[in-house]
Amino acid sequence: MIEKIPFGNTGLDVSRLCFGTLTLGPLQANLSVQEAVMVMSYAWERGINFFDTAELYESQSHVGMLPPSIRHNAVIATKSYADTPEKMRESVEKSLREMKLDVIPIYLIHEQETALTLKGHRGALDVLLEYKNKGLIRVVGVSTHTVEITRLVRQFPELECVFSMFNVEGWGIKDGSIEDMEKELEWNHKAGKGTYLMKALAGGKLLHDAKRAIKYCIDFPYAHSVAIGMKHPSEVDWNIELFEGKDPPPLKAVPRKMLVSFWCIGCGTCVRFCPQEAITVSENKAVIDHDKCVVCTYCTGQCPLHCLRVI
Ligand code: SF4
Ligand code: SF4
Repeated sequence: MIEKIPFGNTGLDVSRLCFGTLTLGPLQANLSVQEAVMVMSYAWERGINFFDTAELYESQSHVGMLPPSIRHNAVIATKSYADTPEKMRESVEKSLREMKLDVIPIYLIHEQETALTLKGHRGALDVLLEYKNKGLIRVVGVSTHTVEITRLVRQFPELECVFSMFNVEGWGIKDGSIEDMEKELEWNHKAGKGTYLMKALAGGKLLHDAKRAIKYCIDFPYAHSVAIGMKHPSEVDWNIELFEGKDPPPLKAVPRKMLVSFWCIGCGTCVRFCPQEAITVSENKAVIDHDKCVVCTYCTGQCPLHCLRVI
């Protein structure tokens, strides 16, 4: 059985391997609800109790189809980009409805970048705290690709956990190195905040060296859990072997990258939604900088012409 540990001072216990559900939804593998429920249930049976979703991932409704015995006992983290009190209220109500939960274990403000963006979300954060006071959310936190926000969490006692960009090469950390991120996570961990890591494989860039990349995250002592996207029971088994200190055979690396379809008209909508500033528009066509892109697929659902996909 995979180890479960206290998630900082939050009162929750989480498995060290967190099931990232972005892979299940329409932005990535687009599994049927039945397939998604099957693989999440399998993960639960194998001891994974921590599931990470988001309004953007469109996988909250998959979580909602899990059997009640799993749904009501799992630690489910979700997140929203909502930046006003009204929008955040709508998001939380939608999450409660889609996931068929009475209480959401963890709710994060999605992908905060700087002190300024966090300040701009103050009203939205207050709504999350309001829901927490009513007992409808247990733990409030942030997700981020930056060292700055990971550092700032310490100044906000109401933010009890942080979900940070983290991988052995420091890919995708927008404002610093992996060492900078490690330092801030250590501080948060010691302060009793729940800490968990995203993009251990840098959106597929480290697939060729997956064991080393994931082991680096497992061995980092200041993270309670590591979120890894999975879409098949064999991937659940492979990851669990690594977390149990075993030596599974190397993964078959299938490199992934974003493709812009020929019918792109260069409207620029996708540019605004790329957290890595990896998209520009040139000669009326979106262009992806593959050195910056972490294949998070956040842009794919934003294109009105469905031009963006992962290959
Ligand atoms: S949103 Fe779609 S059509 Fe517009 S620039 Fe991006 S890829 Fe092209
Ligand atoms: S181009 Fe798309 S997939 Fe790549 S980092 Fe930006 S939003 Fe994510």
